[in-house]
Amino acid sequence: VAATAYIVHRRMRWANGRVKAMEIVKDFEEDCATSYSKLKHVADAMTVEMHAGLASEGGSKLKMLISYVDNLPTGDEKGLFYALDLGGTNFRVLRVQLGGRDGRIVNQEFVEVSIPPNLMVKSTDALFDYIANELAKFVAKEGPGFHLPPGKQRELGFTFSFPVMQTSINSGNLIKWTKGFSIDDTIGRDVVAELTKAMERKGVDMRVSALVNDTIGTLAGGRYFNNDVVVAVILGTGSNAAYVERAQAIPKWQGLLPKSGDMVINMEWGNFRSSHLPLTEYDRAMDIESLNPGEQIFEKLVSGMYLGEILRRVLLRMAEEAAFFGATVPPKLKIPFILKTPDMSSMHHDTSVNLKVVGIKMKEILGISDTPLKTRKIVVQLCNIVATRGARLAAAAIFGVLKKMGRDTVRPGEKQKTVIAMDGGLFEHYSEYSKCLENTLRELVGEQVSESLFIEHANDGSGIGAALLAASHSQYLGVEES
Ligand code: BGC
Ligand code: MG
Repeated sequence: VAATAYIVHRRMRWANGRVKAMEIVKDFEEDCATSYSKLKHVADAMTVEMHAGLASEGGSKLKMLISYVDNLPTGDEKGLFYALDLGGTNFRVLRVQLGGRDGRIVNQEFVEVSIPPNLMVKSTDALFDYIANELAKFVAKEGPGFHLPPGKQRELGFTFSFPVMQTSINSGNLIKWTKGFSIDDTIGRDVVAELTKAMERKGVDMRVSALVNDTIGTLAGGRYFNNDVVVAVILGTGSNAAYVERAQAIPKWQGLLPKSGDMVINMEWGNFRSSHLPLTEYDRAMDIESLNPGEQIFEKLVSGMYLGEILRRVLLRMAEEAAFFGATVPPKLKIPFILKTPDMSSMHHDTSVNLKVVGIKMKEILGISDTPLKTRKIVVQLCNIVATRGARLAAAAIFGVLKKMGRDTVRPGEKQKTVIAMDGGLFEHYSEYSKCLENTLRELVGEQVSESLFIEHANDGSGIGAALLAASHSQYLGVEES
C-alpha cells in the first residue's frame, strides 16, 4: 500500500510539475507577444525618439550621434589603408589596397583575434596595448601587393563599436561601454588618442584618419558596392543602426551645412526603450544583474549577447518551480551566460526527429542527460519564443527608421530602391531569426514598398568601410601623387 501511495504521489507531483511547467511557458509566451499593432507602436515610438534625439543633445534615450561622415564612398578611393575593428568578442585588423574607380579592391588581407575576456574589464592601457601589439605584428607582415608611396605615413580607419561622442571624423570620447566591456577609466576619454599612444608604445607609425562605429563602417562598405544602400543594421553581440539623414533635419547640428547636404547618424538604438516593448520578469532580472543595469534595454531584447541568457533564465525557473529537469536543479543551469545564443540557435534549428542536437546541447552545456523528447520539444518552443520576439522587434525598429526617412511609402512613378546593409553574427548565423525579421519587415512596410526594399548581408563590411573612410579623409588628399 505504501509503495502504491508513493508511486501515485510521485505521479501526481510529476503531473503537477508538468502543469506548472506549461504554465510558465504559457505566461512567458504571452508576455513576449508582439502583435502587429504592438510592432506598429514600437516603430512609431522609434520614429518619435529619433526626432527627439536629433533635436537636442540628451533629448532622448536615442543618442542619434553625429558621425562626421557627410560623404559615403564613391569608388574613387585609392591607396593602401589599414583598419582595426573592435567591438564584439573578436577584433580584426585588415589592410586593403584600393585601386580607385577601375581597380576597386586590388588586394586585401586580414587577421581576426579574440579578445582575452579579462582585458574587457581591466584597464584602458591594457586593452589598447593588446590591440596595438596585434596591429604591430600584422603591419610587420605587409608583403608585396601592397604599396605605400615613399615618405608617406600609413593611415588607419578605426571601427570602435561603442557609443562615442565624436568631436571630428577622427576623434571622439567614449560615452559608455556596452556588451561585455566595462573599463571605468576609458569613459570620457578620446579613444583615438588612446589608440595613438598605444601605437607609439608599440612602435607603430600610423595615423588614425577615421573613427567610426561599426554601423557607419557597414554603411560605408555597403555603399561602396551598392549605391542604393542608405541604412546599416548590426545584429551581433550588440545591436545598432545607422542611416543617412539630411543635415538640415538635425537641429542639434551646430556645424556648417555639408556640401552633400547629408550627415550619417549613428542611432545607438540599443539604448531605445519604450512602454510598448514586451519586457518580461526574466528581462528585468537579467537587466538588474547585468554590467549596465537600466541601459541598452532594446539591445537586451534583440541581440546575440542576451538571447541565450534569457532562455537560460526561463529554464532555470522551470527547473526550480516545476522540477522540469527532475528533482534537483541542474547546477550548471544556475551559471549566468552559460547558454550562448549560437547554442540556442543550434537547438532551434534541430531538424532531427528525436531532437538529437537539443539532447546533446543540454548534456554538453548544462550537464542534463537523457532529456525526454517532450522536454526537448519545450526547449525548442522556448527558443522560438525568444528569437521571434527579438526578430520582430528588430523589424519594427527598422520600420521606424524607414518611416523617419520617408521610405515607408512609394510615391507614384518613383523607382527608388532602399537597400539595408545588415551584418553581425546573429543575423548571419541564426537563420530562423533573420527569416522572421525579413518576413516581419515586409509585412510591416506592405507589398508595394516591399518590392523596392532589399536586405543585403554586408559580410564584415565594417572593416572595409572604415578603411574606405580613412581613404576619403586621408591627410594626403589633394596632395599630388608621388
Ligand atoms: C554599441 C553600438 C554598436 C552595437 C553593435 C552596441 O552595444 O553600443 O555602438 O554599434 O553594439 O556592435
Ligand atoms: Mg563585426
